[in-house]
Formats: sequence, structure tokens, C-alpha cells
Amino acid sequence: MNQIPEQPAATVARLRATFRTGRTKPVEWRTAQLRRLREMLTEQGADLATALHADLGKSATEAYRTEIDFTIREIDHTLDHLDEWLRPESAPVPAHLGADATAWTQYDPLGVVLVIAPWNYPAQLLLAPLAGALAAGNAVVVKPSELAPATSAALAALLPAYLDTDAVAVVEGGVPQTTALLAERFDHIFYTGNGTVGRIVMRAAAEHLTPVTLELGGKSPAFVDRGADLRVVADRLVRGKFLNAGQTCVAPDYVLTDPETAAALEPLFTAALEELFGSDPSASGEYGRIINERHFDRLHGLLDSGRVVVGGGADRTTKYIAPTVLADVDPASPVMSEEIFGPILPIVTVPGLEEAVEFINDRDKPLALYVFTDSDDTRRRIAAETSSGGLGYGLPLAHLTVSDLPFGGVGESGTGSYHGRYSIETFSHRKAVLEKPLA
Ligand code: NAD
Repeated sequence: MNQIPEQPAATVARLRATFRTGRTKPVEWRTAQLRRLREMLTEQGADLATALHADLGKSATEAYRTEIDFTIREIDHTLDHLDEWLRPESAPVPAHLGADATAWTQYDPLGVVLVIAPWNYPAQLLLAPLAGALAAGNAVVVKPSELAPATSAALAALLPAYLDTDAVAVVEGGVPQTTALLAERFDHIFYTGNGTVGRIVMRAAAEHLTPVTLELGGKSPAFVDRGADLRVVADRLVRGKFLNAGQTCVAPDYVLTDPETAAALEPLFTAALEELFGSDPSASGEYGRIINERHFDRLHGLLDSGRVVVGGGADRTTKYIAPTVLADVDPASPVMSEEIFGPILPIVTVPGLEEAVEFINDRDKPLALYVFTDSDDTRRRIAAETSSGGLGYGLPLAHLTVSDLPFGGVGESGTGSYHGRYSIETFSHRKAVLEKPLA
């Protein structure tokens, strides 16, 4: 018998009623939920990996590394430090309030939080914010992406079996369901996805003055300086770019370098790709697929934006696009006009560092910026003269695995951040408290 799904208004009201009882506030409840979430991941990891394979052709190794184990590590880090993060922090009191006055800040949970997740890491990007929101003592509605239907169904079945269903609800569905949810009053909305929908979320949130975190994307450049060890650069760029078939928000979007370095990199990219996926990546169990036909068609249309150095093949029936490197790419070409979000790596040339900085600053602030250089001066200049969500010297993607670093964008690549203690900051109100004894 099909159950009639609860209406969004009823779900939010139910969770708000739970929050009002105070049940989610004690640290014991929070850590118990985090432990249950951890159990879910260890006991049901194989089911989730199967769903991720169905949605994205993700290998089991990649599913564990980038989604399941990643989230377990985030939970463990939170369990290890939560008491310390939640500790009230005293503030110096000015003399005019008297020597007996004290002041401090304390973290208050916000209430009912909405987490809207995308399809590219459909487990990690739903569960890591959920863990943060629970650690901060909130009730949470999570909305998985309908574009990763197997993972969405798996999460909708598993989460209620492990977590406190009076405080955590899963709402599946696409635009109509999300639109209905966004009409409700939440105490925070945490959205991961593209900037167009980010604007819709922010507009809806404005109606209720609800704060938002927007984890968006953009074109993250990889600047390769003259004199860098190009074998290492090619190997690391290829591993970062073609993970999840390039469908990673912090993937290096394009390479920015001088013409001589570009020419030297070309054969090294070919060799690095062959080492990673063999001579036929379509036969490699480690190489993923494009999420759907719409994105396949979009990416397919970008393949002729330059000279193909390696790759270029595609098969719509299996949603396969070969890991592709394009050279001689015009900055005005289609592949450079939008976030690629797929397995195509264009190389754009500029005369040197000065022009590279200008090129980056002429465009939207990226989610990540990667720099491959031996020069301290180049590192210093990039850090001082550009703005990006994160900055990685020598290794793409890895900064987001450091739980003690905030993960988030700036400008068009997003607003707000999370991971580790930054999730507590995001999902709490830091309340100012002053006490002056009556006698
Ligand atoms: P998506 O299509 O799955 O959308 C994300 C969520 O928005 C889904 O849950 C979807 O149901 C909802 N949604 C879609 N249309 C909506 C509408 N009209 N109204 C309300 N809700 C709606 O994912 P996507 O946006 O294609 O994701 C890809 C983008 O996300 C890329 O730009 C990528 O860089 C970015 N991204 C960012 C991060 C990050 O952490 N910063 C992580 C992953 C992806």
C-alpha cells in the first residue's frame, strides 16, 4: 500500500515541534545521531556504493573514498572535537561595566534547517551538511537530488531507519517538491548546486529572512608556472580533473599557462591519462559516466572548442565521454564560457604570471584556484592578488579533505562555508551573553 507523502508544511511543523521540546539540543542527542549516521555508512556502505554506481558509474573505490569514507571521517572529526567547539568563549568586559561583569558567547542551534543536495556527490553533499546541522543541535529536512535517483531512493530508505525521525526528514523530488519546501519558513537553508537555482533559493529565503549557505561552482583555474615539474603537474591535474568524470565542483576547470609550458604538458597529459585509465578509458572500471543525456549533449557540444590532444571520443548510449584534453583553446570559445563540469580539460595560454592574474580577475571568483609553481614569489602574488573560495598549491581538490579548513566559495562561487567547526558556525547562532551580578 502506498503511503501518502507528508506535505512540506506538515513536515516542517512536525520537526519544529520536536525542536521546541528541546530534544535536539543536548550534546548527547547530537552525538548519538552522529554515531547512528556513522553506523548507517559502515553497515549500508555497499548499498550506497551500488546506488552511486547506478547513478554515475562510480567505482566502489571512488564511492568509498569520496563519499562514504569521506563522510565517516567528517563525522569522526566532529565527534572528537564537538565538546571543545561548543565551549562558551569568554570576552573581555570594558571597565565601565565594573569588575564583576562577565561576558561570553555561546552557540545556539538555529531550529529547522533545510539541506538541498546536488547529484554529483549525491551522498557526501547531503550527509556532510546533515552531520554538521545535527552536530549543531538542529532538526533537519534533507532533499536529495532527483538527478541521482538511485542514491536519492537509498538515502530516503536508510536515513529514517537510523536517525530520529521526529527530527530528521527526507523529502525526495524535483523542482515542484523543492519549490514547495522553499515556501516554508526555515531557520537556515544550505544549498549546493548551480548559481541559477542558488538565486531562486536566496529569493525564497529572503521572504522569511532565512540565512543561506550557497555552495556553488564556477570555472576553477589551474595556473602552471614556468619551471614547475611538469610530470608531477600532469599526473596531479589528471587525477583531480577526471575524478567522477570531471563532475566535481572543485575540479580544475582549465589550465592556464604560457605557450612553451603548454606544449611540454601535452604529451605528459596523454601519458598520465594512459597510466590512470589505460589506453581505453571506456573499459576502465575506475572511470565514471555522465549523469544524464542532457549533460552528455552539453559536454559533447564542447568537444570541438579546440585541438584534441587526447580523448575526444563519446558514446551517448552509455553516457561515456572520454577524458579529453584540448589545446589552442580560444578564451572566447564555448568551453571557456561556462563551468565545464565534465571530463574536458582545455589549455589556455597567456604570456606569463601577470596576464594569468589578469585573466583570473577578469572572470567570476572561482570556487578553487590551483597553482603549480616552485616560486615563493608566484605563490605570494597569487594569494595576494586573486580571490577564490579555496587556494591549492601543487594539489587539486585536496583542500576540501582537510576538516579544519572551511569549504565554500566567494562571490559567484558561493557564500558561507562548512566542514568541521565551520559547520558549527554555519548551523548555529553565536549568542552574545552579558552577566552583571545583582548584588
Ligand atoms: P542539481 O540539478 O542536482 O540541483 C541541485 C538541487 O537543486 C537539487 O536538489 C534540485 O532538486 C534542486 N533544484 C533544481 N532546480 C530547482 C528549482 N528551480 N527550484 C528549486 N530547487 C531546484 O545539481 P546542479 O545544480 O546541476 O549541480 C551542479 C552544480 O553544483 C555545479 O555548478 C557545481 O559546481 C555545483 N556544485 C557545488 C558544490 C560545492 O560544494 N560548492 C558541490 C557540488 C556541486
